[in-house]
This record gives sequence, structure tokens and C-alpha cells, in this order.
Amino acid sequence: MSSEIKEVAKLQSVNALRKTMDDYFSRLRIATETGNKKIAWCTSVGPAELLYSMGFEVYFPENHGAMLGASKLADKYIPTAVAHGYSPDICSYLTADIGAFLQNETPLQKSGFKSVPKPDILVYNTNQCHEVGDWFMYYAKHFKVPILGVNTPLWINELTPSIINGIANQFKDLVPELEKVATQKFDLEKFRETVRLSHEGCVLWRKVLETAKHKPSPINFFDSAIHMGPIVIMRGTQYAVDYYKILLAELENRIKNNISSIPSEKLRLYWDGMPLWYKLSSMSKLFAGMDTCVVASTYCNSWVFDDLDPKDPFESSAIAYCKLFIVRSDDAKQNVLEKLMIDFSIDGIIYHDAKTCGRNSNNRFGLQNRLNDKNKIPFLEINGDLCDSRCYSEEQSLIAIETFIKQLSSRK
Ligand code: SF4
Repeated sequence: MSSEIKEVAKLQSVNALRKTMDDYFSRLRIATETGNKKIAWCTSVGPAELLYSMGFEVYFPENHGAMLGASKLADKYIPTAVAHGYSPDICSYLTADIGAFLQNETPLQKSGFKSVPKPDILVYNTNQCHEVGDWFMYYAKHFKVPILGVNTPLWINELTPSIINGIANQFKDLVPELEKVATQKFDLEKFRETVRLSHEGCVLWRKVLETAKHKPSPINFFDSAIHMGPIVIMRGTQYAVDYYKILLAELENRIKNNISSIPSEKLRLYWDGMPLWYKLSSMSKLFAGMDTCVVASTYCNSWVFDDLDPKDPFESSAIAYCKLFIVRSDDAKQNVLEKLMIDFSIDGIIYHDAKTCGRNSNNRFGLQNRLNDKNKIPFLEINGDLCDSRCYSEEQSLIAIETFIKQLSSRK
């Protein structure tokens, strides 16, 4: 097995991605400076469609947290949040984000922002975790603006009508409160159109991810983690739809011409859990050097809300946002994973146990063993974190990953 440095084939769409993201931040900056639009803060799997349909510019603090992680700045800011009473054991998106705010710094300053955009309202959904409520509450108190929440039960095994109806009603209850802040009244037809665009964007994103079923895969997890930006922050807009048409065309073209993401694909892995944002590029090279492509992941799949339906926008939003992997019971998660392992021809699984995100670490209650009993696909668990690099021992993990890949290679 080779461990030489092998470069991952660069996606040309990255230029269009950069422009799509830059334009989004320009719209947000203009709204901040001119007040031409109200600004809503939203959680990454919150009701973005409703907010976009009511004319808000929408800002996502988790995207900001990922930026802090990827730019290796989180370690500088986390201690400041800790000094203000936030535990180092809670979400490091939260601690990095609040720490940066307390230091009056943000990578957005490079894009002309003075600070993060001031919210007119904050809206969260606890479908991912409850920490987002505490996170948003800090800013609601600081800026003295309203905060709204959709409270989704965690550990959903079966999506029963009572759960769906309850969440659909909570979505509906947001409307009159949002109208008090928005410059425009709620318009059902506009909401249907935003849900339609969100559905179209999600289907394109799913097709992007599904190109990795092809052998060799034209894309890997580390690229997907970058290219998922528009589906997270522009879900429900034409901008996301336009971008994923470009990316999908490039990947389909790669398949047609047998161009693989990594130079020589011999093994195919599944990544469960959060990315290590501060190690994305080096991990990408590490796996490529071992002729291993990480072809699919729980994380990137999380933004496939293809149950959205403009015919019934409230109920379908409730279904889509309750079907989300992270909010499901381990049995429901196992069913999803079993299918993915077959669909993507997976040789091995890596579980990233992220110190500060228990909700997105799926190896804590025996799921990894139960899945292995069923499908015999070998797995490796590594300890780390999404943003707090002090939780990650690179030396230890590299040895474990290399040994794991050797074992998988010898099975082939
Ligand atoms: S799901 Fe994890 S990473 Fe996301 S906000 Fe909650 S604790 Fe943080």
C-alpha cells in the first residue's frame, strides 16, 4: 500500500461555489448596512424556507462556527467563551462563535463586515440538539430581539401523525410572530414556491452525493463538506438550485470520462459524524495517499430534505425536518446506514466521536457493534472534535487509520 502524497482532483465548480457564497455574504452585508431587508438567524436545519419566503436575509451561526473551525481560529476563541461560563464540553461551534463575538472578531471582517450581522429575530429548531436554543438565547438577550423555537422531540423512532401534526402546528405558530418583525405578510404561494425551490435544491444535492455510488467515485467526503455550503445556507433559493446544477454536471461529466476524485481508488469508506474542520485538507490527502476514497457520510446526507412538497408545505416541512438522521432513534439510524453501506459499496466505516457533539457521534450507544453484527463491515472509532483541535490526537489517529486501511486492504 502506498502512503505517498497524491493530490485529489480539483473540482472546477469551486469557482462557481466561491461566487455563490460571496454573493450570499454580499446580500447579507448590504442588508446589515442599509436595512433594506430584515435579518433572521436560523439553525442549519431550521425553518429556512419560511424565513426566505417572508423576505428575510438568513444568517446561520453554525456556518460561522464551521468557518472558525476550518480557518483554525476556533482554539483562539473557545477559551473566551469558557471564561464567560460556557463549558468546554458543550458544542464547540457555540463556544467558538460566542468567543469570537466576545473578542469582536469574525472571518467575515475580510468580506467587509464590521461584525456578524445583527439579527432582527432568531429562529431555531431543536431537531439537531437542544444546545442551539441556549446558543441563540445568548444573542437574543444581547441584542434584545425576539427568539422563536420549534421544539422537536429527540430520538424519534416512528414518525407518527401526532409528531408530524405537532411540528407542523409549531411551524404555523411561527408565522404571526415572524409577521411582527418581517416587512411583508406571510403569503402561502410564496411559501410554496420557496419549498419547491428547497426541494429542487435538495434533490440536486442528493444526486450530487449519489454520483459517489459510481466506481471510481468522482467526489469524496472532504469535497462534499465544502460544496454543501449552499444547501445549508441558501436552501429554498434559486441560488442553491443554480449552483448544484453546475456541480452535478461536472460530476456527471467526470463519470462519463472515468475521472475519479482520488488518483487510484482501491477502498471505499463511509464517514460517520462531524468533519474535523481544521483537518479537512490534510485528511483528504491522507486518504488519497492510501488509495482510499471516503465516498459517503452521515453529515453531508443530512441536508437531503426531499420530502418537502409545495402542495402541503407545512406538513411536508414537518416530515422532512423530523426525518432528519440526527433526530432519529438508533434503530431508525441503523436502517438508514445499512442501506447506505450497500448502495455505496462500502468497505469500512470510520466513526468520528466528536467530544463536544454527542448528538452527531453515533458510536456511543452500541450502534457501531449492532451494525457490524449485521453486515460485518469493519469499523474504526477515532476521537476528535469538529472545531476544538485540542481534542484530537493526530499521531494516535493517523496510526489507527493507517492500520485500519492495511487491514481492509488485506481483506480485498
Ligand atoms: S448538533 Fe452538534 S455541532 Fe450541531 S449545534 Fe448541536 S452540538 Fe453543535
